[in-house]
Amino acid sequence: MNKRKENWLIITDLDGTLLDEQNYSFSQAEKALLFLKAKKFPVIPCTSKTHQEVIALREQIGLDSPFIVENGSAVFFNSGYFNISFDEYDFYQSYQYITLGKKYEEILKFFRILKSEFNIGVKGFSEMMIPEIQQYTNMTTEDAQKAKERFFSEPFIIVSENPPFNEIQEYARQKGFRVLKGNRFYHLLAASDKGQAIKQLLKLFRLKFPDYTLNTIGIGDSLNDIELLKNVDIPVLVNKPSGCHQPGIEIKNLIKTKLAGPAGWQEAIFQIIQKK
Ligand SMILES: [Mg+2]
Repeated sequence: MNKRKENWLIITDLDGTLLDEQNYSFSQAEKALLFLKAKKFPVIPCTSKTHQEVIALREQIGLDSPFIVENGSAVFFNSGYFNISFDEYDFYQSYQYITLGKKYEEILKFFRILKSEFNIGVKGFSEMMIPEIQQYTNMTTEDAQKAKERFFSEPFIIVSENPPFNEIQEYARQKGFRVLKGNRFYHLLAASDKGQAIKQLLKLFRLKFPDYTLNTIGIGDSLNDIELLKNVDIPVLVNKPSGCHQPGIEIKNLIKTKLAGPAGWQEAIFQIIQKK
């Protein structure tokens, strides 16, 4: 019997995972990235970042694979990457994308409802000027502009002490939205998530590679990666710079790296793929 060919897909969070939490560098994962590139195994960013941020990063890292933005709100890919009919997909420059979430106007409309409903001090990206975003993120002006160019979700901060986070989450859920807690910001978005976006993307990959066995590795560092980690064959949780993995992530066969961020990312890739 012919052995089926194998292809690996690496689906990865960016901040705190492939990118260093403090300086956004991926240099400690560079050897593994080159190894994957030589093997032609796609590295698929799956992140809270916007399409503009990921497009710039893909160029720096040297990736041409699809990517999932704004916590699973949309799947982007180079036009023609998947050889199927694209009638129902949207276009952005030389990219096509599938929307799983809601448009930004709808998100902002609900953000205002949320603010008045809970009467607490919250401030969204849409209400911040570029310098204020930079203050929270240490981003360059150009990067902060890309982060502000949102299609599907609103990052925000809560300035009130002890906000009723669980109640806010539950209220949003009842109205068909979600509130996530990321490293720096909370995020308001539609009920789509990283897991649903991955399922959608895997369907497209199966059509692209019908003769291959697709193995998926998912890599993340925090709670908003749970759906990512649950929807892959091999889930990996990279360590935090503090030396403690994110608590509260209980997933079967979860690999926890010794090293933090991008160094842990590289550790996992070489551990998983080279031993096969
Ligand atoms: Mg992260």
